[in-house]
Amino acid sequence: MQTSFTPEQLEDPHVAESEKILRRCVHCGFCTATCPTYVTLGNELDSPRGRIYLIKDMLENGRDADEEVVTHIDRCLSCLSCVSTCPSGVDYMHLVDHARVHIENTYRRPLIDRLIRSLLAAVLPYPSRFRTALTLARFGRPFAPLLKQVKALKPLAAMLDLAPQSLPVRQETVMHGAQPIRGIRRGRVAILSGCAQSVLDPGINSATIRLLARFGIEVILPEGEGCCGALVHHMGREEEALDFARRNVDVWTREIDTKGLDAIIITASGCGTTIKDYGHMLRLDPAYAEKAARVSALASDITEYLSTLDLPRQEQRRLNVTYHSACSMQHGQKITMAPKLLLKNAGFTVRDPAEGHLCCGSAGTYNILQPDISAELKARKVRNIEATKPDVIATGNIGCMTQIGSRTAIPIVHTVELLDWAYGGEKPGKLSALKEKATV
Ligand code: SF4
Ligand code: SF4
Repeated sequence: MQTSFTPEQLEDPHVAESEKILRRCVHCGFCTATCPTYVTLGNELDSPRGRIYLIKDMLENGRDADEEVVTHIDRCLSCLSCVSTCPSGVDYMHLVDHARVHIENTYRRPLIDRLIRSLLAAVLPYPSRFRTALTLARFGRPFAPLLKQVKALKPLAAMLDLAPQSLPVRQETVMHGAQPIRGIRRGRVAILSGCAQSVLDPGINSATIRLLARFGIEVILPEGEGCCGALVHHMGREEEALDFARRNVDVWTREIDTKGLDAIIITASGCGTTIKDYGHMLRLDPAYAEKAARVSALASDITEYLSTLDLPRQEQRRLNVTYHSACSMQHGQKITMAPKLLLKNAGFTVRDPAEGHLCCGSAGTYNILQPDISAELKARKVRNIEATKPDVIATGNIGCMTQIGSRTAIPIVHTVELLDWAYGGEKPGKLSALKEKATV
């Protein structure tokens, strides 16, 4: 694609990067067929190619974002399905990241939209605030149908609908410092405790720590780490996202420089995609560029890391597991086979749903901010999953677990919870009803 940026415009490193990305696009449109919003809405402007044109036009003309651009960029899930499909290697992720920051800096959203976004940014990344909000949501739930009647208030209704009926008890299994291991020490890793997942399902990291300890991997949770910054990053709130990134980089760098780390383990693929991008996000910060690149190089999804441990093959179980590949896993991190191979090796029968490349509609805060499109994608995803008649659904991202779990009665667990069970841990609580079926 030809571009016509001026030399002055290209002095801005963000514009220079976007220009390079734009030039790679050859307008072929292959990406449209795999874009969930194009598939759902059928509008070229809701396809990757349409959005690329909108972004090009806005940046090239040095224009502030307008309502049209904001509408179509807001509808993008950042699922990166288009990146997987594109034959020209267009780096849509960094292009849309730039566009979102430009929107945040140049467009004044309606008041209610601003308030909802500020609320999400002030609550979701902080576990204690998030826990309090979810507790309060129980009292607000009866008002959800009323809120749905007003277009601008639909995100509030979506928040109430998504809030779980009850929260797991606060677990102290994930404590700061090192966790005990069994046998000879084979490695030392840090685990991201994160934000929303630690409130919604702390059992995921507990299962991870137990499983790794059984195979001689020392797991540490260094004091001071927290939200990876993805939630605000996807809202274009770049300075906040970079602050989260710097804080985590500082914490992990201290650990790398003292006792050393073999990996930084992440159990939510949405966070993993962002942490693997810290090196890029902080590339223009001389104090952090190198440290952030080191952190990104060590970041590893739990299934990626487990694949390096050569886990023993387990006896076959009578349990059909449909594996839902989160977009951040398959498109963001290009991890497609590892989770399924681990599950098969652990004795589970693994099935793939149709249209596995399409997003479930969760996508960070998307299911709150774009509830209608998100609901359509969720229904489509659950239909495809249920058609495979699974006993259990496995996935590697808490956002997908919440989204899919809110529409199906089939239990949904994290891949690592099944692996922990297969390698000597307790059966995940959500599978207690599968007692007879799960018998070997
Ligand atoms: S990131 Fe996903 S929703 Fe956005 S343009 Fe690409 S395929 Fe479409
Ligand atoms: S597939 Fe790639 S090159 Fe083709 S239109 Fe989409 S982004 Fe551009």
